[in-house]
Amino acid sequence: MSDELFAAFLKLDGRRCLVVGAGRIAESKIESLVRCGADVRVVAPEATEAVQEAAREGKIVWEQRAFKPSDLTGVFLVVAATSSRELHEAIFAQARREGILCNAVDEPERCDFYYPAVVRRGPLQIAVSTSGRAPVLAAHIRKQLEEQFGPEYGPFTEKIGRVRNEMMADGASPQERLARLQELCAGRPSGDTAGGADETAAGKVYFVGAGPGDPELLTRKAWRLLQSADAVLHDALVSPEILQLIGAQAKIIDAGKRCGSHSVTQEHIHEQLIAHARAGRKVVRLQGGDPLVFGRAGEEMAALRDASIEFEVVPGVTSASAAAAAAQISLTNRKLASKLIFLSAHRCKGDFAADWASLARRDATLAIYMPGRHYADIARKLVQAGLPAETPCVIVSQASTPRQLILRLDLASLPELPEPPAPALLLVGEVTRAEAVEAATAWGAGGETVEKEAFR
Ligand code: SAH
Repeated sequence: MSDELFAAFLKLDGRRCLVVGAGRIAESKIESLVRCGADVRVVAPEATEAVQEAAREGKIVWEQRAFKPSDLTGVFLVVAATSSRELHEAIFAQARREGILCNAVDEPERCDFYYPAVVRRGPLQIAVSTSGRAPVLAAHIRKQLEEQFGPEYGPFTEKIGRVRNEMMADGASPQERLARLQELCAGRPSGDTAGGADETAAGKVYFVGAGPGDPELLTRKAWRLLQSADAVLHDALVSPEILQLIGAQAKIIDAGKRCGSHSVTQEHIHEQLIAHARAGRKVVRLQGGDPLVFGRAGEEMAALRDASIEFEVVPGVTSASAAAAAAQISLTNRKLASKLIFLSAHRCKGDFAADWASLARRDATLAIYMPGRHYADIARKLVQAGLPAETPCVIVSQASTPRQLILRLDLASLPELPEPPAPALLLVGEVTRAEAVEAATAWGAGGETVEKEAFR
């Protein structure tokens, strides 16, 4: 005896199919049979509103009575969807004798076939079965497939079908046909021109925010693009966990640039983005955090505009948000901070460009990106500009990854700190005090010389 399933897609058009039972569960089975053009008869003493309506509209025939053995005469396939196991057993046994395919709902031992989890994209159908072992897994896999094969695959499949028919009619050789069709398939549909534009036309560049590292912090859109991209140019910052999500078909290009060692020049990145897009590819420019925060997206977008290449930006969770989340800090606690300033301490050349006097304000929270080796300089400048040396701060290294590290200290002790692993972000301001909320209350009551209007 074998329990291995034979996979097949049945043509039911015009075939007599019987459904015994007309409750909620029967409803969906009836619907899927009707969709395929089956000649559906339903036998049940009672029926849901939807089944009654389908009968009124002539889509099915409903006989309002109990099942009787003669109902199986001339039937190709029967679905038993009642609450009676005895009845299911009788139907299954009779169907066996008469060579009729039977499915008794939720009783695998009384099924000749199962309903698989299905992704339908027009003529394209992807069916998943776990041989009845793990329907939950099948549903999970279906969800993943739904993401990977979006609605655009319907028209895409139609289109390939049309080209194939045309080539058959034109008498193209089998080799020619195969080469052309394979090329079309490799072109992949563009998810954002669903149904419309020619998928093999010019490609597009997507500036995608990879977030701080945890793959669960990707947007659904980012996830889908990573699965379907033809080429991915990524930063050094993008976590290995996220790089693993890139589809097998994609060419992965490490465009990581580090301060001092410009192994990949900016111009070279522009050239690659343009070349891949011109070749009709779906190109993902993958950047840590949000692509529009301290990245080179500005220059890259300008280069694409000049080259007349279409692009789109998909935002991501910036590391200031991830660091605040990790340390459970309200960046704009309304009693303590009226502004949130994102700044970069990066200095490949020369001194920081920051205007320290405008930053050294007690009502501001500073999110300092790329602190590098400059913790001591930053602390010194802020104190010189007027911030108290006791101003609390937090460093979050590798936020949202399994390697995350949170250090709470103050400006006075910042210079002694051994450099935490990169990437790290420095948050400065009263909001970073562990007991920030209580402090805010006490501070307000104490009538310190703070700008009151800031704390409305
Ligand atoms: N576009 C990115 C920032 C790029 S600049 C964003 O929106 O987050 C690079 C800096 O980002 C790093 O020097 C560091 O300060 C910060 N950074 C990026 N990922 C980080 C992470 N997982 N944890 C802490 N800081 C991070």
